Amino acid sequence: MTRPSSVKPNRLFQTSTMAALLDAVYDGEMTLEELVKHGDFGLGTFDALDGEMIVAEGEVRQFRSQGIASGTTGDMKTPFACVTYFEPEEIVTIDKPMNKEEFEGLVNKLIDNPNLFGAVRFTGELEAVDTRTVFCQHKPYPGMLEVVAKQPTFTMSNVSGVMLGFRTPPYMQGINVAGYHLHFLSDDRKHGGHVTDYRVKAGKLEVARMSDLEIALPRTKEFAEADLLPVGLHEAIQTAEGG
Ligand SMILES: [Zn+2]
Repeated sequence: MTRPSSVKPNRLFQTSTMAALLDAVYDGEMTLEELVKHGDFGLGTFDALDGEMIVAEGEVRQFRSQGIASGTTGDMKTPFACVTYFEPEEIVTIDKPMNKEEFEGLVNKLIDNPNLFGAVRFTGELEAVDTRTVFCQHKPYPGMLEVVAKQPTFTMSNVSGVMLGFRTPPYMQGINVAGYHLHFLSDDRKHGGHVTDYRVKAGKLEVARMSDLEIALPRTKEFAEADLLPVGLHEAIQTAEGG
């Protein structure tokens, strides 16, 4: 997908906020057709929390309850998604196994600025990757912590694919997910989800710093009534989104 000249590369565009998702604002206003105008790389979820989303090379895939990926249509909507037109600034080859901490340490070193957002893409082989998906909810919506307590998780071993997403600086907790938020899509484009743990084996790591940000807040009644600064927000996001 070509980047419109009006949109800078590595500008983060996001719909709504993580705190809103945590407070069960699971219906958004933005269609996927609109979302992909703002980026061809990213992640998120779907209305009614119907699965995890990955946007890879402009294609939006949906991981539903079994971690199986399927195609999407432009009229589907998202309550929370982050996309960018990714243009790598740093590219390194990984030729020895690394666990999550080592991988994140390497990315931190490459970004070399804890107060910027980062976009991260690893393409290659993983010794193991643990993913989870969320599943479609019905009204009245339960809070996200209740949902993730029941979420299905999957482990894949010796799998090739793309693991991509964002690193959010700590002061943006609640707007987004502080720390790393990565989704995985296998090479056959059939499996993956929200990554909770992994061990990379060999491949290409690409990273970009992100200093431009656009947030589209919903004008819905649910968003208007949401509590976006609850006590324990940080711990709740770590439980809901952490590894
Ligand atoms: Zn996720």
